[in-house]
Amino acid sequence: ATPTAIMVGTGQGARAGMLVKNAEALELAERIGVLAVDKTGTLTEGLPALTDTLPAQGWTRAEVLAVAAAVEQGSGHPIATAVLAAARADGLQLPPTEAVQAVGGMGMEGQVQHDGSWQSVLLGSPRFLQERGVSLPDAFSDELAAAGKTLVAVAVGGVFAGLLGVADRVRADSAAAVARLQARGIRVVMLTGDHPATAAAIALQTGISDWRAGVLPGEKAIAIDELRHDAHGAVVRVGMVGDGINDAPALAAADVSFAIGVGADVAIEAADITLVKNSLHGVADAIDLSRATLSKIR
Ligand code: ADP
Ligand code: MG
Repeated sequence: ATPTAIMVGTGQGARAGMLVKNAEALELAERIGVLAVDKTGTLTEGLPALTDTLPAQGWTRAEVLAVAAAVEQGSGHPIATAVLAAARADGLQLPPTEAVQAVGGMGMEGQVQHDGSWQSVLLGSPRFLQERGVSLPDAFSDELAAAGKTLVAVAVGGVFAGLLGVADRVRADSAAAVARLQARGIRVVMLTGDHPATAAAIALQTGISDWRAGVLPGEKAIAIDELRHDAHGAVVRVGMVGDGINDAPALAAADVSFAIGVGADVAIEAADITLVKNSLHGVADAIDLSRATLSKIR
């Protein structure tokens, strides 16, 4: 494309709510064959709320929530914000903690004062607790996950203490935008670090039949490289849209990348195009603009 046409396209994009940082991305957008889409904060609003607190035997609801909130004080994750808001709303006193740290794509670990002594605490995905040798009750979570909720398991002293359910609303226009992209022949694939059952529920709600769950932050970029070859080994252009710190490597690995405007600064820095309207429609708009811009100069 000529530089002038691209400049005009970039200006039209800005007026339509797309901030194009890399003009070449606008040229490539029309050739996207596969679009990888993050779940939390991209398909969903990214403002989760705590909906369920299920204490294990020997624990009260308030105790589990207080321990969880105490540990989540050290996290900037949207789930942490939801847990802290719920504890605050209940007026809970949080126990002291020590050496709390985040385990990327998994949860949090540290020490908490409970029953008069310091005990280890683990909080996060069921997979995380299982990998650390905590046994979880069978089928304790089916209902929550089937509703598309994220499961947050809590263990104190290596023993399961309770389960929290966190719900994040699907953006009102996500399903329509997915359908619009699919109508343009694009294969839409959801990538998420969440539990498979939760992923399946959100995929169903948004009309996505292709998804990968339990993808760790470092694995999202590898998934992008895998999507670059179709079933017949042919090379396809891969687009990626995300909002989080954990999406930045995948955004950098994609041929054309989009960041949700309210997303993390690192995601916006890594992406070619920022979607000011915080909607997946922005990706379809960019593809349409790419076609219109290029057809003018062909
Ligand atoms: P996503 O790909 O859905 O944006 P992340 O990579 O941020 O998710 O996290 C993956 C999973 O790790 C979450 O679904 C959650 O189960 C768990 N997790 C990560 N950080 C936390 C935290 N601070 N509190 C609770 N769970 C967490
Ligand atoms: Mg996200």
